[in-house]
Amino acid sequence: MERVTHVIGTVHEVSLKGANRGWFERALLANVRSALRGLPVAEVSIPARVVVRFSEPVPWGEVFGRLFTVFGLNGIIPVERTGTTYDQLERFVGEHADEFQGKTFAVRCKRSDKRFPMTSVEVNRRLGAFVNERTGMAVDLENPDVTLHVLVQSDGLYLFRDRYPGPGGLPAGTSGRVLVLLSGGIDSPAAAYLAMKRGTRAHYVHFHSAPYTSDASVGKVERLVRFLTRHQGASRLAVVPFGDCQREIVALCPERLRVVLYRRMMLRAAQRIARRWRCEALVTGESLNQVASQTLENMAAIDRVAHMPVLRPLVGMDKQEIIAVAERAGTYELSILPHQDCCSFLQPQHPATRTTPAACEEAEAALDVEAWARRLQHEATVTVIQHRWDESPTG
Ligand code: ATP
Ligand code: MG
Repeated sequence: MERVTHVIGTVHEVSLKGANRGWFERALLANVRSALRGLPVAEVSIPARVVVRFSEPVPWGEVFGRLFTVFGLNGIIPVERTGTTYDQLERFVGEHADEFQGKTFAVRCKRSDKRFPMTSVEVNRRLGAFVNERTGMAVDLENPDVTLHVLVQSDGLYLFRDRYPGPGGLPAGTSGRVLVLLSGGIDSPAAAYLAMKRGTRAHYVHFHSAPYTSDASVGKVERLVRFLTRHQGASRLAVVPFGDCQREIVALCPERLRVVLYRRMMLRAAQRIARRWRCEALVTGESLNQVASQTLENMAAIDRVAHMPVLRPLVGMDKQEIIAVAERAGTYELSILPHQDCCSFLQPQHPATRTTPAACEEAEAALDVEAWARRLQHEATVTVIQHRWDESPTG
């Protein structure tokens, strides 16, 4: 199958929503429309599942690549619309019978329009008998070579052979906004992906140590944000020069606490930016005990300075699981390009694994933390990153 004229997107979680269902559906349809911008879309509707009708055949690979960025779609299915009656369905199947190659087959009908005069079982039986007579293939309901799926919806009958998994989750923009602390490593882009998958819109903040280290991480982070923005159309990125603040922490505070103190400063600056952008939570790529700074004690000491939730979508994952998420998100390839993170700049020999808030506060007495947070916020360079599919199609 090279080109398609109809595609159906199945929804799972969205369809379980009660009173809010219409609102979730409208958000999903808007996201589907913007993912397909520039393609000849005639209509997008949601009679039961999401139905996209194109005014002319479009390449399936392009459509799939785009819809795979739309959270809320659980399955993405290239379908044929066969009309509105059983007779039309049967005629269509008859005309395409020579395409069914295999010894055995099964018909599986799902009827979401209960006004349709036949039940699913009746469609299965009648179409099964017809295909058997036409092609000589035998029915095998357990392990068929060919499966003919029929969807009976209020807007018509659809036929398909294969369904492809979608990204799942909830439509972007239905769960509020978050600010992701994005480092350029493998983890934080995966965390951003999972936060967006739960329906948030993500904005980003990145700290770099230029002029003390190269600013190569900035270009990398921009590429990552550009890529992640495919899920939501536009996002903001704040790039914060952090080197001077780190220098002062190094000069005035105990070496063992450095990393936790860096993080606390990052969090203070990040939440100022978050408030300005009306983000309701911060997101990090931390995973419990992955490295010395990510012990429960250190996370607690870091979170003490936060006045908003700090979400850690990767908290229970091991590295292999995180890599699998990054691969699914498509960020892995970008993340493994070499870069120098600001936290490896002036890294202590033996970072503390069991910091306490009190120890951090005592160390920070030497700094004017609020002045630093303000300065970091003001020195941030903000870029608005837009993604337009018609300018950069898939592949
Ligand atoms: P990552 O793979 O995301 O770099 P990591 O496993 O290297 O994570 P750390 O370096 O301990 O872990 O960073 C933990 C989290 O702190 C990151 O996932 C990210 O959310 C945040 N963070 C670290 N460095 C930066 C940075 N330079 N700018 C913004 N956020 C950062
Ligand atoms: Mg890192």
